[in-house]
Amino acid sequence: MKKINKELLSNLTVLYVEDEEMIRDEICYFFKKYVKNFHVAKNGLEGLDSYLEYKPDLIITDIQMPKMNGLEMLKKIENKNIPVIITTAYSDIDYFLKAIELNVNKFVIKPIDLMELVFAIQDCVISDHMQDKLFEKENLLRIVDENVLISITDSKGNIIDASHAFCEFVEYTKDELIGKSHSILKHEDTPSHFYEKMWEKITSGNVFKSEIRNRKKNGDIYWANLTITPVFKEDKIVNFTAIRQDITSAKKLELLSIEDDLTKLYNRRYFNKIIDKEIRRVKRDNSILSLLTLDIDYFKKYNDTYGHPQGDKALIEVARVLKESTLRATDYSFRMGGEEFSIIFSGVEIEESLHYSQEIVKKIESLHLEHTTNIASKYLTISAGLIVLNSDELDSVESLYKYSDEALYEAKVKGRNQVVLSKNSK
Ligand code: GH3
Ligand code: MG
Ligand code: MG
Repeated sequence: MKKINKELLSNLTVLYVEDEEMIRDEICYFFKKYVKNFHVAKNGLEGLDSYLEYKPDLIITDIQMPKMNGLEMLKKIENKNIPVIITTAYSDIDYFLKAIELNVNKFVIKPIDLMELVFAIQDCVISDHMQDKLFEKENLLRIVDENVLISITDSKGNIIDASHAFCEFVEYTKDELIGKSHSILKHEDTPSHFYEKMWEKITSGNVFKSEIRNRKKNGDIYWANLTITPVFKEDKIVNFTAIRQDITSAKKLELLSIEDDLTKLYNRRYFNKIIDKEIRRVKRDNSILSLLTLDIDYFKKYNDTYGHPQGDKALIEVARVLKESTLRATDYSFRMGGEEFSIIFSGVEIEESLHYSQEIVKKIESLHLEHTTNIASKYLTISAGLIVLNSDELDSVESLYKYSDEALYEAKVKGRNQVVLSKNSK
């Protein structure tokens, strides 16, 4: 059973247009009880004036009226979304058809049944309201789908949905993504501890935010600000939503200033920044800092023998080994210039630091890059100087750099292809 929704009616502003005095009075008398702002007009012309004056939420109008009929009045009203109810007699059938063209919402046949008119009003207003909401929601979803880089996974991390924008961005079709994990986009240099930390955070119900480097289907790298949010249902995580902001251009600019063009290792400028930061951190944590300085052996001769372009290739190969050897969050590798590199790492005792450094020197020789003019080996080799200091002994960047450089010089003198540990290590 339909009910009168008094609250809904009381908040409405209604314009009622009717030329017949008797009907008008009857309707007016009835509705004034429910509708606070119930305005009445005697014909289309008056109706137009009242419309402009009161800005009603809804219009009820007769069709046949002197001066201006109901349909002419509706044509002149600019807001075509306003709900309209026509009260009409069967004899108005021609007008009736025209009214449909004018997007009239409802017809109430004369003689007017008051309750029927009440329900017509309520239906118009409610459905109009709901359509608005629906429109808003659909519109919003469409905007999100087209513009937001969003993907949703199940609780195990398998992709179950992805926005159109995201699919286009990473150049995979939705079908290619669904059922896969996000590792389909993984960049090989992102260390596994990054994913372990992320997984730990989100599975314990927290939001994870980070910059991330990924690869599109075609291999292109992109950078994103990633936010992963767990979605709960009755205290259990059912999904994770991942939203990203593309920051590739900004990141490229940033990297340009801290990255070496040829090898993609960090450059000397970034070294200066990081070494300061790491000294402070190590002091704060009462830890140990190690600096390893490396220099390729007889590289001038290598260039002379194999040509400069081949020399560039060798630098890239050496850099790759250094990169692969510095995967922990607090490991850093740099190209300091020319054929000189350095590595900063921390929290490792002297003995172990030396062992780690020797492994790197061995790995370079194991690349088996032929170098016939190298006296130390038949392959390309590198020499290195290592300084390891605990937090009490750490003071300036200058002394750290000086100690490792002296040790490197010693390694060269001693025959190259080796690491010398600075005697200042403590
Ligand atoms: P040592 O064993 O004493 O280190 O001898 P070395 O020949 O390696 O040392 P030296 O400093 O005399 O020469 C370094 C060479 O590195 C000279 C230079 O041409 C080369 N070099 C520096 N930067 C680059 C580069 O970007 N590409 C190439 N191919 N060679 C470079
Ligand atoms: Mg050299
Ligand atoms: Mg040199």
